[in-house]
Amino acid sequence: MARKLTVVVSQGQSANPAKRKLEEDLVAGLLFERGLEVTVVPHLYDLTPDGTGMLCLQGITGDMVVVSWLFSRGAFWTLDRNGIRGREGKTLLVNEAEEEDDEDESDESEESKDAKPRVVESRDLPNRKIYCLDFKARESAAPFVEEIARIQKETTVQTFGLMNLLGGSPSPAQVQRFVNPTNTTSGVDAGGSLNGTGSSPNGTPAPALPIVEQAPAEPTGAPAVVPTVIAEESGRRWYPVIDYARCTNCMECIDFCLFGVYGVDKIETILVEQPDNCRKGCPACSRVCPENAIIFPQHKTPAIAGSPDGVAGGFKIDLSKLFGAPDALEQAVLERDVELVAVGRDAVGEAVGLPKRQSSSSNDSKDDLDKLMDSLDDLAL
Ligand code: SF4
Ligand code: SF4
Repeated sequence: MARKLTVVVSQGQSANPAKRKLEEDLVAGLLFERGLEVTVVPHLYDLTPDGTGMLCLQGITGDMVVVSWLFSRGAFWTLDRNGIRGREGKTLLVNEAEEEDDEDESDESEESKDAKPRVVESRDLPNRKIYCLDFKARESAAPFVEEIARIQKETTVQTFGLMNLLGGSPSPAQVQRFVNPTNTTSGVDAGGSLNGTGSSPNGTPAPALPIVEQAPAEPTGAPAVVPTVIAEESGRRWYPVIDYARCTNCMECIDFCLFGVYGVDKIETILVEQPDNCRKGCPACSRVCPENAIIFPQHKTPAIAGSPDGVAGGFKIDLSKLFGAPDALEQAVLERDVELVAVGRDAVGEAVGLPKRQSSSSNDSKDDLDKLMDSLDDLAL
């Protein structure tokens, strides 16, 4: 039988009434949806690695939707940091800022997604999808319920499609459902044939993928879903997560951080080894990463918190440079020095761990200046 889709609702950090209402409305909206498991956890980012919440999430092996107060990128890579891995499911429910950024990214994609291999390309990922939805994308629960229903259909179709490709046999219950659909919107048309087209790997026509709709909820019936609510006492945490779809394993972050946060695994891939060594509020290394791969999901600046802003290798006009404000590297050095002094150590300024690209800073500066001038020319300023 097809596995149920698990929906994880990650609560906000504060008891903000508007946020709590949206979370509660969403759970209530899912109660009558069949084929779902619903789990409510405290704020995803604050869950401790060996706490009940994270253990519960690690125990979910099928497709998963996670709705949290984090940008979808931040949520996805926070899960990854905790060993909850899968392929990124594409949600249609994005907030407008992300949508615009996505467009920007596609404009620049050919130019910016250069030939550098990304860490994610070398990883073996479980064959399941994780969809991360951002509560900030909408103000009411209905669009989330609708999107989760769409994802449920999508993942069901993929499950059956995979079974066809693998030559696997559906269970008797599944066969029964196709033969005698329990609703009027199944993949069987009035003439008894399956909708759609397709062919098996050996060229013979394959049965079409079934489109399984949820039966409407019984108005007076019991809820189809009993949510699991995980309570866990945990304070607010602060640590970086790495977006391995962008990371090139250049190691500039490990050189820069002087608090022992980063390490490498057995195959010499960068990882956040000691997350709780990170200095609360400090986002310094995110400014140093040349691929914008380091996310601080709780940072107030969307680009640092995981919005798709800050395309790897892309160039955005930074007018602050024209007015003498510190650039990102200078700011990172200052932030690191503040944290070093706060723990009684000496400030090191630019003397330690500056990115390798700094060694050719004169060329880089020239390139950036050239690009800035070109951009200003384009704008006819
Ligand atoms: S600096 Fe960025 S790209 Fe380089 S290893 Fe660290 S996270 Fe990856
Ligand atoms: S923010 Fe600062 S302390 Fe935290 S990992 Fe980055 S450099 Fe290290």
